[in-house]
Amino acid sequence: MRDSQPLWTRRMSGIVQLRLPLPFALKWVNAYLLRGEEGWTVVDPGLRTEESEAAWEIVMDELGIGWSDIGRIVLTHYHPDHYGLAGWLQSRTGAEVYLSETAALYAHRLWGEGETFSASLAGAFRAHGLPETLSGGVLAHLESVKRQVLPHPARTRIIRAGDKLSFGGAEWEAVGGEGHAPGHLAFYDRDRRMMLCGDQVLPDITPNIGWMPDGDPDPLGSYLSSLARMAAIEVDTAFPGHREPFAEYGRRVAELRDHHARRLARMAELAEELAIRSADTSDAGDARAVAATVDAASAGAASMDQASVGAASMDQASAGAASMEASVRMNAAGSAGRFQSFAMCETLFGERVLGNPHNLRFAMAETIAHLERMALSGMLIRETEPASAGGQVYYRPTEG
Ligand SMILES: [Zn+2]
Repeated sequence: MRDSQPLWTRRMSGIVQLRLPLPFALKWVNAYLLRGEEGWTVVDPGLRTEESEAAWEIVMDELGIGWSDIGRIVLTHYHPDHYGLAGWLQSRTGAEVYLSETAALYAHRLWGEGETFSASLAGAFRAHGLPETLSGGVLAHLESVKRQVLPHPARTRIIRAGDKLSFGGAEWEAVGGEGHAPGHLAFYDRDRRMMLCGDQVLPDITPNIGWMPDGDPDPLGSYLSSLARMAAIEVDTAFPGHREPFAEYGRRVAELRDHHARRLARMAELAEELAIRSADTSDAGDARAVAATVDAASAGAASMDQASVGAASMDQASAGAASMEASVRMNAAGSAGRFQSFAMCETLFGERVLGNPHNLRFAMAETIAHLERMALSGMLIRETEPASAGGQVYYRPTEG
């Protein structure tokens, strides 16, 4: 966290904003402390790191709040930077943790004992073209996050979209929103026209749209329809999960919708370019004959193996070269006019994301979310090879 930022700031209506440090580019996550009949309520306690725990100690001391004064912990979503300290804070305060059923489910699906999610996400990214070496980094990174969310809270209360919750001296309505995290809830105080936004609406930065295997098949579509609903809510002061509280909620919601419309338009152009590039590298005649057929794909994979064997044995140089050539032609034919998410991700976010598994994971999830939206709206055709042929996923621009 930048030294120029104070650890906490008292905002309107006595709401205290805590800036808890994060070991990645977002810089900090906001926790909010609100005082009411229940004592203090904490909204989104932060990521479990030594720095955050130390920050909590300092804030409690400076504000003169005892651990037992905390009566409730309310979560907007299950992402580690919001959920991570919930169990730790519960063990110190005895407070119950309020969250949506889906959030509780995903916290355990992603970070629970014996979880299989990490491997399935890495596998899905490989099917979308992410090279093995990079998917290994993503897997290792996910493993490393687990200690930042444990322990899970032992006692939880489930809240649903539409529920009214009394805390911090006000009544807050839980507002459901999808796309950033399944089961995300924002909290709206109609009287004071205030919104605790979580990560659904952020100033300065756009919330990551997270595609994941066996999750929402169209997170971007869900996000955009959530925003359309949230645009109708009248908010004077928004308290976001990151950056500073802000006033221009309605304008920000409109900007976020524009941002994704522009990105989809840009990606439609890039899709054409990537498709043309892949067609250029193939033998056009062969490409038309065998493109997209399962047989061609498995033949391509088989001749790739031959090629690498050939390349390795120098004394069979000519045989190797011949099968390499065949392999290149077959593989190119198999991918002519289409591309994979990873190629789009690299084009869109640049090579800088490749060196950081955390950013790479979000960039891939965001790219796939947009490509899936484009496939569902008929701008692209998704082509998935059978598992026996490698299970690779491609996208092809539709004609005209
Ligand atoms: Zn966040």
